[in-house]
Amino acid sequence: MKTASMCVTVMCCSVIVLGMGCSEGSRQAKDLPVLEKREYFRWPEGKRAAISLTFDDARHTQVTNGIPLLDEYDTKATFYVSLGNLEERIDAWKAAAAGGHEIGSHTLTHPCSGNFSFIGYDRALEDYTLDAMRSELVESNATIERLLDVRVVSFAYPCGQKYVGRGRNLKSYVPLVAEHFLSGRGWMDEWANDPAFCDMAQLMAMELDGKDFEQAKQVIDRTLANGGWLVFCGHEIADDGRQTTRMATLRALCEYARDPANGIWLDTVEAITRHIHKQRSGAAG
Ligand SMILES: [Zn+2]
Repeated sequence: MKTASMCVTVMCCSVIVLGMGCSEGSRQAKDLPVLEKREYFRWPEGKRAAISLTFDDARHTQVTNGIPLLDEYDTKATFYVSLGNLEERIDAWKAAAAGGHEIGSHTLTHPCSGNFSFIGYDRALEDYTLDAMRSELVESNATIERLLDVRVVSFAYPCGQKYVGRGRNLKSYVPLVAEHFLSGRGWMDEWANDPAFCDMAQLMAMELDGKDFEQAKQVIDRTLANGGWLVFCGHEIADDGRQTTRMATLRALCEYARDPANGIWLDTVEAITRHIHKQRSGAAG
């Protein structure tokens, strides 16, 4: 077992290395050791489960509606940003980052399957290569870090899709994400993450858009029963609309999470990832 003092976080080029001096296994998100039993994992301060609120694409309603609401509750979220939208509201995003919200990568050009009508064939994953994706991830990180003076350690797969190519030549780009980030988040999954076991490069995420609080609470309560880490994902933040996390749901969720009786740790993906790294590397989280 490694001691906490052996594990230091350093950044080497664009590769995040957590656990300098630790085994090679702790260098990459996908190679993090798993605990022998689920019960060996401990959330801090006696919490029973963790939740991260994540939002994609730097949609403008995130800065106009969402961040002010979250700030009312001193709740920090993770935003996987698209660069065009980011640059249109750059001052607001700088303030959000300075205020403790996490900024993650969502690639440069948001490549997804060419089956989506909003994806041009020129950025269809079916015609991507791993080299092109690697360049895109490195450039995206460098651009966000330059624009916002942050360090990017978290990634969300556009459309939740994790491949390049097609058919017999298809390849997963999960290993690339594991090499360049502490975590990679999916989309439209059906369950929370098991912190003792999960692959950090393929975190499962559940949709928050369109849910009322009772629907969200069902998932939260199931996560509490299992001691898991629930990663919610949303897009717009407003009273109603397509791909929209409702303000009323978000407010009720913040209130539910801050009641100590509910045993919830609500924090950014990075904060929870770092706690999981400590626990699974053998340090007392
Ligand atoms: Zn997206």
